[in-house]
Amino acid sequence: MSDSISTSDKTEVAIVGAGPIGIELGVALKRAGVAAELFDAGPIGQTISWWAPQTRWFSSNERIAIAGVPLLTVDQSKATREEYLTYLRSVVSQFGLSVHPYCPVVDVQRQSGGLGVTTKPGGEVRTWMARAVVLAIGGTDHPRRLGIPGEDLPHVDGYLRETHRYFGRRVLIIGGRNSAIEAALRLHHAGAKVALSYRGETLPEDGIKYWLRPEINGLLKAGRIESLMGTEAVQITSRSVHLRKIDSGEPIEVAADDVLSLIGYSQDKTLLRSAGVHLIDSVQRPKHNEATMETNVPGLYVAGTAIAGSQTSKYKTFLENCHDHVDKIVSHLTGQSVETSREYESQITAQPES
Ligand SMILES: Cc1cc2nc3c(=O)[nH]c(=O)nc-3n(C[C@H](O)[C@H](O)[C@H](O)COP(=O)(O)OP(=O)(O)OC[C@H]3O[C@@H](n4cnc5c(N)ncnc54)[C@H](O)[C@@H]3O)c2cc1C
Repeated sequence: MSDSISTSDKTEVAIVGAGPIGIELGVALKRAGVAAELFDAGPIGQTISWWAPQTRWFSSNERIAIAGVPLLTVDQSKATREEYLTYLRSVVSQFGLSVHPYCPVVDVQRQSGGLGVTTKPGGEVRTWMARAVVLAIGGTDHPRRLGIPGEDLPHVDGYLRETHRYFGRRVLIIGGRNSAIEAALRLHHAGAKVALSYRGETLPEDGIKYWLRPEINGLLKAGRIESLMGTEAVQITSRSVHLRKIDSGEPIEVAADDVLSLIGYSQDKTLLRSAGVHLIDSVQRPKHNEATMETNVPGLYVAGTAIAGSQTSKYKTFLENCHDHVDKIVSHLTGQSVETSREYESQITAQPES
């Protein structure tokens, strides 16, 4: 199908990514009287939407609330995926933000009169002109790959799905941090026969939410979840996974109906690269001015977890320590000091991979 090209639309600020930080920025700009359009490649809150049903945030509600709108839950517990997505919809509706869901931004280039933002919803290419563009694109676009044969077979997945579908299935989970441990526990309780393969001889001391650790250790010790510590996967077939003991090289074959590879996520660099943003460090994070959030491309900013690139096993950048990006960007764009800062300091310094 050939692409049709529509003429330019205009806005003051184009926000790429309608996750929590993109939405919080949209509200802040609206309050400052600055016109903004939000674009997301998927639904709003796409990153949260792919979490397994009923997954809870580990951050407390006040730390993941945005734009000063309280996040309340029916039982005062940490919000679930569903509660948070409902919350995001209500914030967008409450402030009447202009959001374009399922509208990926495929390029940002300087043009006369500002920055040209190329969107591609379906096959239609449409260019918006903006005075400033903020990339609030997150950093968890793709599950990390194992790099072994069989990884693209249909029963191999980088995401935990609705737990009901695993009932009665033999599931091999690869990974040893939060996502893998949470999946192992949930699937065990949902009636799957779970085996856990992790490279270390023991689970990482600092890589697991403290409330999950006693239960997973107990179930592994009792053999109710099969422990395959000190192993790495070398090949996946339609019926089994071939592992190798890392210390001895001894091969192990484990029968599996489903394989979950939960070893973290990586950031899609395509847009950052095509926009000309300098990427630095081993995680290829976008270089930016920490006082203003502006990148090396004038008028192009980054916000939220996007600043951290592809985070490795110890995540340091979370929603809860990104709220100040919003203040910095609005202050820089309007020339007025904006201070919506929280009543608390983020207590997170480093948290395990999710
Ligand atoms: C299971 C799990 C549990 C987690 N729990 C916590 C927690 O308790 N506390 C915490 O702080 N963090 C947690 N995280 C991390 C959490 O997802 C992020 O902190 C949060 O989503 C970051 O918000 P953000 O707005 O920076 O980015 P995101 O929420 O990732 O939003 C980025 C948005 O940009 C969109 N996008 C990307 N590229 C484009 C493009 N080219 N065009 C248009 N749109 C684009 C995406 O579709 C997405 O909607 C968890 C993550 C996982 C996987």
